[in-house]
Amino acid sequence: MLSPIANEIAHVRRQLQGASPEGVLSWAAQRFAPALGLAASFSVEDSVLIDAASAPGLTVFAIDTGRLPEETYLVAEEWRRRGVTVRWFFPQREAVERLANEKGPFSFRWSLADRHACCAIRKVEPLGRALQGLAAWVTGLRREQSVTRASLDIVEVDEAHGGLVKLNPLAAWSAAQVWARIRERALPYSALHDKGYPSIGCAPCTRAVPSGEHPRAGRWWWESPEHKECGLHVCPVGSSEPQPRS
Ligand code: SF4
Repeated sequence: MLSPIANEIAHVRRQLQGASPEGVLSWAAQRFAPALGLAASFSVEDSVLIDAASAPGLTVFAIDTGRLPEETYLVAEEWRRRGVTVRWFFPQREAVERLANEKGPFSFRWSLADRHACCAIRKVEPLGRALQGLAAWVTGLRREQSVTRASLDIVEVDEAHGGLVKLNPLAAWSAAQVWARIRERALPYSALHDKGYPSIGCAPCTRAVPSGEHPRAGRWWWESPEHKECGLHVCPVGSSEPQPRS
């Protein structure tokens, strides 16, 4: 039997099919603000959402893994200059020191387990703290980004994070739609996109990809596609897609 929130979400999912990002965010703000957070990694999708989120009561938060490229901070700074307040979360110092002292700065290339261990310390644990006190969070995930996101819904129950509601207003958007909105609204984006990086994460785990390759081919490029998640986003229970966890 579905929980009350799962029942509500199943109903709302039908209601929001085809809604604009503004429509989804407006519904979310009415339903959840002020316990509503937008997770920003300062991707182009996040820029579209920050721009679309005019409703009060939504917190923009970001995780500084300690390994982000400078270009990402420049996008964050541009949003700050435009009046957007970003709440930053950092990994636990002791855990990062232990990781670096025991395994050095590149242990994430040793094995999938070591990569997940690094993501767990630098991303997953701070995300857990960022989500505390929230009833719902918003992401810039899109279905076409990867095999692990192919069954994404606009709104879902995030069982991996205690049953929070997770909103993916751009789930059905294409990259072309995202870029059209970026150009039309002159929104900030990372300079790395103009240097062959379609998808950007931590600096040592991201590289440029030749034109025509899958957009996420440059993320953890030494791994196979079904492993390309960091533990922040886990496929919903019941999904036929793989369910990566850190
Ligand atoms: S993306 Fe790479 S550097 Fe960043 S947290 Fe994960 S493994 Fe560590």
